[in-house]
Amino acid sequence: MINEEGVLGRLSGRLPASPAEAAEQVALACQIIARFGHEDLTLGHASVRGPDGRTIYIKRKGKALREVRADDVMPISLDQADGYLAPGAHLETVMHTEAYLARPDIGAAIHTHPLHSVAMGATEQGLAILSHDGLMFPDGVPIFEGTAGLVTSSGQGKAVAQALGTNRAVLLRNHGILVVGEDIRWAVLAAITLERAAQLQFVAKALGDTVPIPRQAAGELFGTKYTDEFTDEYWMAWCRLVGDTRPSGLP
Ligand SMILES: [Zn+2]
Repeated sequence: MINEEGVLGRLSGRLPASPAEAAEQVALACQIIARFGHEDLTLGHASVRGPDGRTIYIKRKGKALREVRADDVMPISLDQADGYLAPGAHLETVMHTEAYLARPDIGAAIHTHPLHSVAMGATEQGLAILSHDGLMFPDGVPIFEGTAGLVTSSGQGKAVAQALGTNRAVLLRNHGILVVGEDIRWAVLAAITLERAAQLQFVAKALGDTVPIPRQAAGELFGTKYTDEFTDEYWMAWCRLVGDTRPSGLP
């Protein structure tokens, strides 16, 4: 029998201890975000940085997010300049590789096309901090305007990473989002929270003039709302939601 600590440890969304755990985390992340408005045909992808720090594990093309299992995840080396062109890789894999190269502090990344976030990224205003969801992005969310098309070249990937800067998310104008996190828990939280904030903004604007939380207050409130402890709890709840409460590594 596995005690609570064991289950928590094995299902942890913190940095993966092995390539197998990395693939399992990517599969779970894809299934989770599919439940929160990120499903779009077979498009969109999640990735994590592997234990060696120089290999990422990313959903390969062909499956819808909700269908992804560990077998649908492929390794890509950050040390191989054209690694993102590997057979089976999504065309926009370069967005991930360039984000990891630019941001040694991140352990996970997600690119998707969620409806409300894409709509928000097609407006001048972008994200307004209207709720606790908005607090996740106290400095706002920058908008990448380099192209409305697919991001497939190293140069475009670098430009997206530059637009992301030190933030948790960037809106790709007329296209989608790129979110990053310290690990997969935080990246999934950013993806879900950004889409929810965009949805809430849409509702609020329909009801009347909006009253945002001031930037300074938002910065101060972030630390009380978003903590590692809470994120552990959310990750466990999401894993239960997608029906996978098996300790990873067991049949
Ligand atoms: Zn895309």
